Amino acid sequence: MDNNDLTPRLEPGLYIVATPIGNLGDMTMRGAETLRRCDAVACEDTRVTGKLMAHLGVRKPLLRYDDHASERDRERLLATMRDGALALVSDAGTPLVSDPGYRLVREAQAQGIAVTTLPGACAAIAGLTLSGLPNDRFLFAGFLPVKEKARLVTLAELARIDATLIFYESGPRLVKSLDAIASALPGRDVAVGRELTKLHEECRRGSAEELAAHYSANPPKGEIVLMVAPPSEQETSGEDVEAMLREALQTAKPSQAAAQVAKATGRDRKELYALAMELRSQ
Ligand code: SAM
Repeated sequence: MDNNDLTPRLEPGLYIVATPIGNLGDMTMRGAETLRRCDAVACEDTRVTGKLMAHLGVRKPLLRYDDHASERDRERLLATMRDGALALVSDAGTPLVSDPGYRLVREAQAQGIAVTTLPGACAAIAGLTLSGLPNDRFLFAGFLPVKEKARLVTLAELARIDATLIFYESGPRLVKSLDAIASALPGRDVAVGRELTKLHEECRRGSAEELAAHYSANPPKGEIVLMVAPPSEQETSGEDVEAMLREALQTAKPSQAAAQVAKATGRDRKELYALAMELRSQ
């Protein structure tokens, strides 16, 4: 008989379980207990979750899931949680945070199925705590777009937000993103959190230019959280609006540039359009 058979079963429902982002010691006791007592685990990659389960000494059916799963697959999971306890995990960290689960949670709630969460590691929060950047207000913005123009538009949209910005990033794209931040959000303090909770954990702070130079010379390995300080008062002055318009005009027509900057700054679009026409004629 499997040892797991001795553990009392959980109430039926969906249990969202955070898992470590590198250091297995960060598995919470309540999360581990839930994986021990549930009936099945929905996960992104059965090999990755299989390793965590082996570390915990637990064997459960592992059911692959992502938000692109077919309706039939999702219905199968919903049926499992009507009769039994289904744990939802992702490869690492908190499910649903740039990871699958949103549609499953919505559907379970819509069907009156009990849903609960077991919080734990999350790279965005771990990065923020180590960044040395203001943390009283922050905005998690997921991954920046891959295409250069879309990346600049996104940064322009976020430029006026009075909060530390948090992005997930990959090693090969880090320098390009730092370059984009240097041009769209000039003068800001930036922090790069890399391999958090792991052996080679580091957190570097500096200007986007300094960090881009460092990581061009030392291509970064591993997983990365990129953080940008909130705007200074000076940054939201007229001069900076002009700089944002100039930047936007490099890839957009005056009307589009004015609309982008108006959206990002809350300033009047007609005034910005007039300024954009003037800048273009210079
Ligand atoms: N749901 C996860 C969480 O709660 O952190 C995030 C999943 S997202 C698909 C994966 C991204 O998280 C990575 O590309 C990286 O940007 C970030 N990340 C995950 N683990 C990390 C770590 N140990 N150090 C730095 N960043 C990490």
